[in-house]
Amino acid sequence: MLAAVLPEIRNLRLDNVPSPEYSADEVLIKVHAAGICGTDIHIYRGEWKTSMPIILGHEFSGVIAEVGRSVKEDLKVGDPVVVEPNILCGTCHFCRMSERNYFCENLKAVGVTIDGAFTEYVKVKAENVYKLPKKFSLDEAALVEPLACCVRGIDQARIKAGDTVAIIGAGPIGLILLQLAKQSGASAIIQTDIEETRLKLAKDLGADYTVCMAREDAVEAIKSLTDGYGVDVAIEAVGSTKAITQAMNVTRRGGRLNIFGVAPQDEVWNVKPFDLYDKELTVTTSYRSPFTFQRAVKIASSGSVKLRPLVSHIYKLEEIQSAFEVAEKKLEGAIKVLVKP
Ligand SMILES: [Zn+2]
Ligand SMILES: [Zn+2]
Repeated sequence: MLAAVLPEIRNLRLDNVPSPEYSADEVLIKVHAAGICGTDIHIYRGEWKTSMPIILGHEFSGVIAEVGRSVKEDLKVGDPVVVEPNILCGTCHFCRMSERNYFCENLKAVGVTIDGAFTEYVKVKAENVYKLPKKFSLDEAALVEPLACCVRGIDQARIKAGDTVAIIGAGPIGLILLQLAKQSGASAIIQTDIEETRLKLAKDLGADYTVCMAREDAVEAIKSLTDGYGVDVAIEAVGSTKAITQAMNVTRRGGRLNIFGVAPQDEVWNVKPFDLYDKELTVTTSYRSPFTFQRAVKIASSGSVKLRPLVSHIYKLEEIQSAFEVAEKKLEGAIKVLVKP
């Protein structure tokens, strides 16, 4: 089968590889579409370490092609599905806790530590597979994985009915968080970005106010929209320390800050602990998508969160180098770039 293999950083190569040999408790999935995520770009650039060669791609949809002998889940050939990429060992300290988390000491992830979906077929454990309703668009379904991560983020942000919310960043994640915040009862949502095109989309998807940081100071603008107090909840959806500081500065005293974006591993955040004390801020983070896939599938298929408008580009697998370039440099108004075998 054709695969985009990453043998070393910044060298994405199209290759013919054998299709994966799946075990008895796994299914083989024919990939329909796979999204390029910030994580793929980080690995491609060498900013996040993983063992190579590897086939990246952890946000994907597809159809079941074959089912392993001992699979007990209700999965049949032809079922349209999405995949939770994180694989737990089931036996370590964290796996045996009562809370459902992804802190597994032997965590593997499809498309991050083991071969993923920038190819034609992927094998995955049946327990990681979630069936989609028959009429659900498989293009949109490639965004269920980021949606599942955002469901966790919204849980962590603990938005209450009537809260004012600021979302820093209007990339695919920021635009999903916006829609989830709206559903959670936010009375007003302010979204910031540097790109006007992204902010226009944010408006279309329900943002009450947008702030273009290329023209305006985000902190001042958000303060003036909230009578000088700041918002009840701020969510950082960029993955930079600058954005985290901005999010902190626009949160009111006693408010809640969720750091959703993943900053580069070695970046250091300069913060005055006194400022946190003085505001009595509740700061949360959000780690992956612990058992939020079922809810994400329900949300996506209800149509209450719109995923299709986030897909800006669709490329063939053969064109993956161009797809990565557009996604990495955010060319041509790129938001979510999909690759299809
Ligand atoms: Zn991702
Ligand atoms: Zn474990």
